[in-house]
Amino acid sequence: MNITNIPNNKRPEALYIHTPFCEHICYYCDYTRILLSGQNVDLYLTALENELTSYQVGNVSTIYIGGGTPSALDEVAFKRLFQMVDPYRKGVKEFTVEVNVENLTENKLLIMKNHGVNRLSIGVQSLHDETLKKAGRYHTAGEAIKMINLAKSLGFNNISVDLIYGLPNQTLEELSEDIDLYLALDLPHIATYALSVAPHTMFKNLLVEEVSDEMSRMMFDLILNKLRAHGYRRYEVSTFAKQGYECQHNLTYWNDEEYYGIGLGAGGYVNGVRYLNTKNLSSYNKGNYRLEVDEVNPASRIEYFLLTNLRKADGFSLLKFKEVTNLDFSELFAKPLVNLVKYGLIEISNDRVFCSDEGLMKLDYVLFSLIKDL
Ligand code: SF4
Repeated sequence: MNITNIPNNKRPEALYIHTPFCEHICYYCDYTRILLSGQNVDLYLTALENELTSYQVGNVSTIYIGGGTPSALDEVAFKRLFQMVDPYRKGVKEFTVEVNVENLTENKLLIMKNHGVNRLSIGVQSLHDETLKKAGRYHTAGEAIKMINLAKSLGFNNISVDLIYGLPNQTLEELSEDIDLYLALDLPHIATYALSVAPHTMFKNLLVEEVSDEMSRMMFDLILNKLRAHGYRRYEVSTFAKQGYECQHNLTYWNDEEYYGIGLGAGGYVNGVRYLNTKNLSSYNKGNYRLEVDEVNPASRIEYFLLTNLRKADGFSLLKFKEVTNLDFSELFAKPLVNLVKYGLIEISNDRVFCSDEGLMKLDYVLFSLIKDL
């Protein structure tokens, strides 16, 4: 299947661009990232531009530049990145950029503003200086608050912040204080993450242990209850938004819709083909972008549909499942649904299938129950 010469009406409406460079490596990080120092950023941007132009990207409605740390680029490279994206932003409704507090500047905020960025995802992680230090982050809580206020004063009102929980020595009391500080920022979107200690991370080398499942659950319940009490909706497993501020780009993934993914280690889903780019920078810079290509078949179509759509609190409609798979959801999964419904993990109501709060907590189990016999 071809992923370049596709008709206009079938082209993805979401574009993801990856910039892998970071000024330092956080102790928990296992994303596709590379230490910026000594790298030839121009070479990477040229390869990125070549990959971008190779897809004949049509009109997209969301753009997301993630990393790595896009804001780690110097101003010249930063500008070049946005000039590269300019031809694709006509008609874009949501244009998000991930930024870090320690290398974001007023000038970079203005560059983004001038190039149509209307949503920032700021890597705050915690508003406790000690916790930040222990996680290998290079900013303080005070600097984060100052940067958020500066961004707001320049007209960025759609801001998301990350909150990690389960960090070494973090207590429920500290997390509770952290959430209060986040609430005081009065931002419309908060993405939460449980710390997982992945191989090849500093935390793994330091033999850091993840908190127990019970503690992790207590921490998440605390987050859930506090954020809900302040008008945030849990619209995805661990992501919260005020009404109307759900991330449209991420909803593309969670609706199992197609998207372009450009850059080192990026994944995409175009014209029925899922692909993953190489994580090897020199291969990527030479134009050898692709690591894996996977043409979607009927079984994997169902699997992806469930893996993505059931992450959302709204789940999916039975009609959509039928349109996409040609199958009847209730018939296909009649057997596992008996227990999933009986134990209150899945609900089916008014044409919609969705996980309950408890079902979202146990999503791996729900998915396994459904998918194992496919
Ligand atoms: S800034 Fe983000 S991508 Fe870079 S090392 Fe830290 S967590 Fe990873």
